[in-house]
Amino acid sequence: MLINNDTIIKDSDPSIRRKSEPVELPLSEENKQILREMFQYVQDSTDEEKAKELNLRPAVGISAIQIGIPRQLTAVIVHDYDKNDELVTYQYMLANPKIVSRSVQKAYLENGEGCLSVQEEHDGFVVRSARVKVTGYDLLTDQNITIRARGYLAIVLQHEIDHFSGVLFYDHINKDNPHPEVPGALVI
Ligand SMILES: [Zn+2]
Repeated sequence: MLINNDTIIKDSDPSIRRKSEPVELPLSEENKQILREMFQYVQDSTDEEKAKELNLRPAVGISAIQIGIPRQLTAVIVHDYDKNDELVTYQYMLANPKIVSRSVQKAYLENGEGCLSVQEEHDGFVVRSARVKVTGYDLLTDQNITIRARGYLAIVLQHEIDHFSGVLFYDHINKDNPHPEVPGALVI
C-alpha cells in the first residue's frame, strides 16, 4: 500500500467522517501489515530526505481511516519530555485503543493542531484533556497495554482516537471564540 500525501484521504472526501470498527484479536496478518505500514509512514515522514523523496507530510500519528480503512488502528510516534525532563520517544502500533479515563484539567497546543487529512489552516485552540488513560493492544510490543499519557502525547492520542468517530480537530474549535481562556489548562 502506498501511503503518501496524494493517497491520504482529505477532509474534502466525506469518507473521512466514517466510523471505524474495532478489529478482531489476535490481529490478522492484514491488520498487522496496515499497522506496520502506517508506523513506517510516521517514521519516514520526519526524516527530511525521505519525506521529500516519498512525498510525505511530517506527522506524529496516522489512523487507518486516513488511508481509507475504517478500522480502529493507529500508529503514533511522539518525542516528548517525561516528568524527569528526559527526552523520551513514545511509539505505538495500536489496535482498538480506548480512552478509559481522563483528567478534569484541560490542555491545548498554543499553535493549534494539524492533520494529514486537513490541508487548510484552522486557527484556534483544540481544548482536550491534559491526561488520559488509554488501553489497547500494541503490536510493537505485542501486548495489551495501558498508556498513562499527559500533555502532548495525551493530545496526540485523543486526536487519533477521534478519527475513529469521524471527528476532526477543527470540530473542537469554537468558531465564535477560537482562543478562549481555559482556567488551569496546560498550554503546550
Ligand atoms: Zn488527524
